[in-house]
Amino acid sequence: MTHVPIGDMPTEDFRRAGHALIDWIADHLSRLDKIPVLPDVRPGEIRAQLPLEAPEQGESIDDVLADVDRIIMPGMTHWNHPNFMAYFGISSSGPAILGELLSAALNVNAMLWTTCPVATELEKTVMDWLRRMLGLPESFWGMITDSASSSTLQAIAAAREAALDHPVRQKGLFGAPRLRLYTSEQAHSSVEKAAVTLGLGTESVYKIGVDSSYRLDPVLLEQAVTADRQAGLLPFCVVATVGTTSTTSIDPVPAIADICERHNLWLHVDAAYGGSPAIIAEYRHVLAGCDRADSLLVNPHKWLFVPIDCSAFYTRKPAVLKQAFSLVPEYLKTNRDDEVENLMDYGVQLGRRFRALKLWFTIRYFGSRGLGERIRYAIDLAQALAKKIDDHPHFETLAPVPYSTICFRAHPPEIEDESVLDRLNRTLLDNILAGQQLFLSHTRLNGRLALRLAIGNLYTREKHVDQAWKLIQEQWDALYKQMS
Ligand SMILES: *Cc1c(COP(=O)(O)O)cnc(C)c1O
Repeated sequence: MTHVPIGDMPTEDFRRAGHALIDWIADHLSRLDKIPVLPDVRPGEIRAQLPLEAPEQGESIDDVLADVDRIIMPGMTHWNHPNFMAYFGISSSGPAILGELLSAALNVNAMLWTTCPVATELEKTVMDWLRRMLGLPESFWGMITDSASSSTLQAIAAAREAALDHPVRQKGLFGAPRLRLYTSEQAHSSVEKAAVTLGLGTESVYKIGVDSSYRLDPVLLEQAVTADRQAGLLPFCVVATVGTTSTTSIDPVPAIADICERHNLWLHVDAAYGGSPAIIAEYRHVLAGCDRADSLLVNPHKWLFVPIDCSAFYTRKPAVLKQAFSLVPEYLKTNRDDEVENLMDYGVQLGRRFRALKLWFTIRYFGSRGLGERIRYAIDLAQALAKKIDDHPHFETLAPVPYSTICFRAHPPEIEDESVLDRLNRTLLDNILAGQQLFLSHTRLNGRLALRLAIGNLYTREKHVDQAWKLIQEQWDALYKQMS
């Protein structure tokens, strides 16, 4: 037998490199606001620095770590950065990073109770903790999925299972009634994607109009359901949103729940971003009516300081969910199946990461109060900035600000033409992004281009928001001067 090196990296090498990497992470996180939030790279530039072929001979871990600085960091958009105010200000906290690291080291598969009892039991426990923190009733059964998109896919699959007499598991949708699902024009694209994935098609998704605050209009919803029924379609599900992706508007869930009860429709609530503030007593109301939902999701990776990926999925009807997804081959049967919950039975994934660890670390370290205070701080910063924007003669907000996300634009009083305003705001955004110091995103509201500024990052303090507002005004003043 020829001698080949086998086994893992030597323990002492791992220990040394691991300590060095933790030091590197600590330094990186503490110096984030000294570096640009956005990289300066053109497409392909990073790949061009990487070898075409994998190395045949192993390399030292020191060489790999050195290339993190040399190749990886220059291509980074820093989501943990205090000036990251695009999309949503998500951040991974110290305890969550440690939980994630431990989960990689333990490397369990949480598919069955027996494949790692503590992974299932800790997951059930943290989901119960979070349920109580959010003020949701005991009847809500919980599991962790990778993303809001997966949680919504599971919810709609369960809703379909509940609605059809047709044996969809055996026959697919062939010969089934035409199903219809309702959500608002402002709902996340994951709703439509779930319909595509489940073979329902985009035409099964009816997008209900919204009011002037971008909330689903329940009158239009009930009209649509009634008309569809009369036309021979089968209404089966409504997806309401608490914290829509563009403006963070909150759909009127109590009124929607009434309609769902009257028409026997599954109510799923997407509270990926907007659910987390419900852990604070004064914001508990954002989830009003959600106790009547059949399913609901909140993303700890959006606003509970846990790194991607982690979505908390709840349903009052786990038996229906299981009926939709359970498929157990002989080799996965265990003699405990009557006594335990095997979480692979409730979703698409068989192999499941030990995501509960990072959530457990985070909730324990900050406590529900500490988490709430951090969320409230972000909301207070955004409310103060929204007021400054509205007080400025050349700026306006374009939607209410229920949380910490502001949709706004420059609008000098003498300019009325919407296409000119669009162009100006597009240029303003481009100029801001070109500086690499502040990351904002955009959306379109009633046809108008809106800049979108979201505060929520753990590293974002008042001074960063002040600097961001100063930068926006400076860029605007320069553009305005150029124009006139
Ligand atoms: C971010 C977001 C999503 C998508 O979340 P993923 O976890 O990336 O799938 C869905 N819905 C809403 C309201 C969101 O804000």
